[in-house]
Formats: sequence, C-alpha cells, structure tokens
Amino acid sequence: MNEQRIKEILNMEPDHRYVEIHGWIRTVRTSKNVTFLEVNDGSCLKNLQVVLDHQRKELADLVPSLRTGASVSVQGDIAPSLGKNQKLELNATAVALIGPSPEDYPLQKKRHSFEFLREIAHLRPRTNTFGAVARVRNAVCYGIHSFFQERGFIYVHTPIISSNDCEGAGETFQVTTLPLKDIPVKENGEVDFTKDFFGKKASLTVSGQLEGEVYALALTNVYTFGPTFRAENSNTSRHLAEFWMVEPEMAFCDIHGNMDLAEEFLKHIISYVLDHCTEDMNFFDTWVEKGVTASLHHVLDADFARITYDEAVDHLEKADRSFEFKPFWGADLQSEHEKYLTEEVFRKPVIVTGYPKEIKAFYMKQNDDGRTVAAMDILVPRLGEIIGGSERESDRTKLETRIKEMGLPKEDYWWYLDLRSYGTVPHAGFGLGLERFIQYITGMQNIRDVIPFPRAVNTAEF
Ligand code: ATP
Ligand code: MN
Repeated sequence: MNEQRIKEILNMEPDHRYVEIHGWIRTVRTSKNVTFLEVNDGSCLKNLQVVLDHQRKELADLVPSLRTGASVSVQGDIAPSLGKNQKLELNATAVALIGPSPEDYPLQKKRHSFEFLREIAHLRPRTNTFGAVARVRNAVCYGIHSFFQERGFIYVHTPIISSNDCEGAGETFQVTTLPLKDIPVKENGEVDFTKDFFGKKASLTVSGQLEGEVYALALTNVYTFGPTFRAENSNTSRHLAEFWMVEPEMAFCDIHGNMDLAEEFLKHIISYVLDHCTEDMNFFDTWVEKGVTASLHHVLDADFARITYDEAVDHLEKADRSFEFKPFWGADLQSEHEKYLTEEVFRKPVIVTGYPKEIKAFYMKQNDDGRTVAAMDILVPRLGEIIGGSERESDRTKLETRIKEMGLPKEDYWWYLDLRSYGTVPHAGFGLGLERFIQYITGMQNIRDVIPFPRAVNTAEF
C-alpha cells in the first residue's frame, strides 16, 4: 500500500526529504532541459509538481512515454519550487510507468462539459470537479454520522426490500422473481403474488421511516442512512431513481424538538464540510457557484425563520409578482414559491409547519384544528425543500381513521398500528436527501453529478 499521499506531502516543508508517491499524470510540460508532470492521487484537489531533469539520461529517455492519464510512481526529494503556483515540488530521481501510457485518453486538459463527463463516468472522478464532489460527499457522510453518534443516536439498518409502499411517496420499483414471460395470474386475472419470492408483492424501499419508528420506540433516538428508490419518471435536475436518505427518528419528541434538531443538524454538517474541505469548497466557490461558501456561512449565523403554512401562503398571496403556479391555501408549495420565501422574504432558511392534511402523508400528527398536520419542511435559498419531516400520529384511532380516509390497505399496517397500542409516545423525525444536500453546498446544478453512479430514466450504464 501507498505510504505517502500527495496531500500530506504538499503540507510538508521543502526540506529535501526523500519520498515516494503514486498517482496519475494530469499534465505534461516539456522544455529543453526539464519536464514537469502534474501528478494527482485524489487525496486533495492540488497536484504535485514533479520535475524530471533531462540530464539524468534514464529520466530523459522516459519522457516521450509520459502522457496524460498514465499511472506512475515517482521517487525523489521535496524541494522549494521556483514556480509561483506551488511552494514545493518533487525532484525526481526515479520515475516508473505503472501501466501502459495511454495514447487516446478521453480526458484532456480543456474543460469538458458535465454532460460529456456523464458518458465517461468511469473516468470522471479523475477530474477536479468530480474528485472534489467525492471528497465533499465523503465528509458530509462523516459529518452526518458524527452528529448523531455524538448525541447517542443508534444507527439502524432498515430494509431495502419492502412490502409496503408506506408513504405513497412515489412510484416504486417492484422486486420479483416471477417469470416475465409466464406470469401466474389468479382467477380474476390479477397477478398471483403468492407465487412470488416473498409470497406477496414487494418493492424497493422509498423510505426507512416506518421501520425507523419501530426502533425509536425501543431505543429512543435512532437514525437510518441508506439508499432509497423511486421510479421517478421525470427528467429533472433534482430527482434520481436511487438516492441516499438520512432519517432520524426520536421518541418523546414533538414537532418543536424536531425543528430544533433539524436546524442544529444542518448547521453541523455545513460547518463540518467548511472545516474539513476548505480547498474543495473554495474550488466550488470559484468554478461552480460564486459566493456559495459565503452563503453557507450566512446560514450558520442565521436563526432559521419558522412560519406556518398559513403564513407562507399569506406571504405568497401578497407578493407583488405573478407566479407560474398561483398560490392558494391547500396547494403544495412549488419550488418558485420556496425560492421566493427563502431568497426574497426571509433571505435565509425557512421552516414551514402545519401543512393541510390533504397534501401530506397519512402518518403525520393531526393538529387540533382538524385541517392541518404537524409537518415541517425546511426550505433553503437556491434549492428549495431540503428536509421533510413531521411529528407522527401517536393515537391509534386517529391513525386508523386517516388510513381509511386515504384509502390505504389497513391490513398492511398492522405492525405500524400496533406501535400505537403498545407503549405509544409522541415521536417525530425527518428525512434529508443526501444528494440534494450536496447539490446545495457545492452549487452543482445537476443531481446526477453529485452521486458517483447516477440511476435515472434510461441511465444505468456504469
Ligand atoms: P420532491 O417534491 O422534490 O419530489 P418529495 O416530497 O418527494 O420531494 P420526500 O418524500 O419528503 O420528498 O423525501 C425526503 C427527501 O428526499 C426530500 O426532501 C429530498 O431531499 C429527497 N428526495 C426525494 N425524492 C428524491 C429523488 N427522486 N432524488 C433525490 N432526492 C430525493
Ligand atoms: Mn417526490
């Protein structure tokens, strides 16, 4: 294994100590007496400049075969650099090509479009942008775990294969081993799922929440963090068919505790990334979304606005502008509405609570007014909704009524309803889409560029 990474070397003093590095050549510049290689190993954004002195014959002989994309190992000493772009460089004493030197490497020095890079997703992590996205994504995940672990939350693994489209959150992907050419049917012509692998209809999970509640009502504070699947048939820049979701669930917690935790959580992961990915975040600030780090610092300093859905609709109806979707009480907030509230009215994140029950899921706690539920969405500037959550209905009778009203199959929820008979308590939780969050903090426009291998309509090549 490689002992020394370029990130560590770049932080050393140029004291002529001897090192060995491994990486991939980003660029080659040759002049009469020397050749400069920019080598990157993914440990950080910056490349290490390697200098080959042509007076060393074995190095000069190697130069014609050193090309962009080649994998190399280099030994040498760290010296002060005369160039203005770096404080140190590696004076090579020995260079070895690890693999054959590519002559038709698809990644050239010019800037490639993100669309093109999606077609070569096996090579795009070797670009500045995708290396930075990967490191930021890694830090976000670490920050998520550290937030919950430091607060005594238990990480629970909820299933990927589920037999209830619990929330009606979206179109599901079915999981089946039935032969597609000869599907068993019942007398009434419907598919006979008793013959299927699980003996019933199954699909990929759209959320781990219902199972999260099971564990919260035993361990008090838990979180799930894993892949979720929605057969979103739309080609948007904010929807994937496979994405990651973080879902904490807290017993003995109401909607206010839920909001407090969610605000603290967002601030924690933002500051974790700003502290640990300074170089990558500066890169996004310069090349992807100007001002993105300042806007994140602003969020850290702000108390999130907290308003009710009624107040939100009020603001929208009074707005001196026309929206594409006219706001009215009872309609879901559209992304133009979310932008208006966060960017123009409050100029900071906004938590909206008390949505009409008709537009929210069956499990949300019904408010005393009979028309709203204890839902909370967190809206942020530039992106809109980033977190959706609620206090859950803990009263069995009310929950059963709601399931019936919404025409859901009550028998599928027997275990979920049982939680309200055996030791029910107020409890609450929320979900954060990991990729939406990464889009938000990096300013990356398309969600397909913040997950290594995007899954979307007609997209599953890599
Ligand atoms: P939207 O209205 O944007 O489709 P939603 O209301 O379906 O979102 P929820 O069911 O509340 O979203 O899911 C919780 C979180 O998961 C969302 O706030 C969002 O961050 C994320 N999310 C939802 N659908 C997707 C998707 N298809 N791809 C990526 N992230 C998603
Ligand atoms: Mn959706």
